[in-house]
Amino acid sequence: KVLEENQLIQIHEKTSELYHHILMNTQIGEKALQYLLDRGLTEEVIRTFQIGFAPRDRSLLSKVLEKENFSEELLRKSGLLFQMDNGDWLDRFYQRIMFPITNYQGKIIGFSGRILEDETFDSTDQPKYLNSPETELFNKRFILFNFNQARSEIRKKNEVILFEGFMDVISAWMSGVKNGVASMGTSLTVDQIRALEKVSEDCLISYDGDNAGIEATNRAIDLIASESTMSIQIVSIPDKMDPDDYRKKYGNDSLKELIKNNRDTVFQFKKEYLKRGKNIQVEADKLEYIDELLQEVSNISSIVEADLALTQLAEEFNLSKSTLQNELRTKKQHYK
Ligand code: ATP
Ligand code: MN
Ligand code: MN
Ligand code: MN
Repeated sequence: KVLEENQLIQIHEKTSELYHHILMNTQIGEKALQYLLDRGLTEEVIRTFQIGFAPRDRSLLSKVLEKENFSEELLRKSGLLFQMDNGDWLDRFYQRIMFPITNYQGKIIGFSGRILEDETFDSTDQPKYLNSPETELFNKRFILFNFNQARSEIRKKNEVILFEGFMDVISAWMSGVKNGVASMGTSLTVDQIRALEKVSEDCLISYDGDNAGIEATNRAIDLIASESTMSIQIVSIPDKMDPDDYRKKYGNDSLKELIKNNRDTVFQFKKEYLKRGKNIQVEADKLEYIDELLQEVSNISSIVEADLALTQLAEEFNLSKSTLQNELRTKKQHYK
């Protein structure tokens, strides 16, 4: 069992070296390398994350791994190759920028590949990102991209930053923020939260500024709050951009600055979030909004923070604070 795991890791390490070599040193990798450089990555960061390229030819990896002494069963288990009915092997990943995914010990156990658009290749039916299939070794719900490289910085700062995409983690890394991780294109899981709370008391969420990202932020907040004692802050990215878009638009240091200086509390986030789709000029909407916000206030564990939130609400809706306090008290009994 352990032997098999080690061999699977070996297969992944070899594959990653091959893809990385193709990207950095060969002609078939040229366009992919140019694409990454155009996106603002440096060769240094490409090496740090061992990014690679899986070329269009779907027999390349098969040929290389065939020469090694891995059993067919193991090759199948790796998820990196398929065997067709006629016995020939086909590579799973092709025409993709390859991001190796490591486990918490830093061993490569899977990949995520981003399609490389090319005028000579029809990618219309291809998903933008393709992951390794779920295997015994590759459990998406446990995996956090970059967790192994980020861990010491997370510990040092006692703070972890959750991003939505790999490119956001890498972008943040380049702007000097090295405590970022991302889940694997799926929503955050309880298992990931468990891993994070072992190394950090504070959690920052900086998902994409688009609608999907805002919804995912809201879900992540609720899950973290109910499953852990980590404190939560939110870094919203303006104009529907993602952190990587933001860095590209405003320069290398901008993302670091934003993460440092533009943090919202959960309450501030909820105020914006719950306003969506409501017309506060309409009495019924306004009452529902205040009601939902009071529920949020009742979730705030810090007494001072809760009091500040009530003050804000009282001012905003021209109500007396004691009215809100009374309402909150009856509500709290109600929730129990
Ligand atoms: P890029 O900047 O390269 O276009 P992104 O990271 O901004 O990519 P999003 O569309 O915002 O991409 O998606 C966020 C994350 O969700 C991706 O990094 C990836 O992990 C995951 N993802 C996106 N599309 C898919 C897909 N079709 N299948 C699986 N995972 C996906
Ligand atoms: Mn997105
Ligand atoms: Mn994105
Ligand atoms: Mn992006």
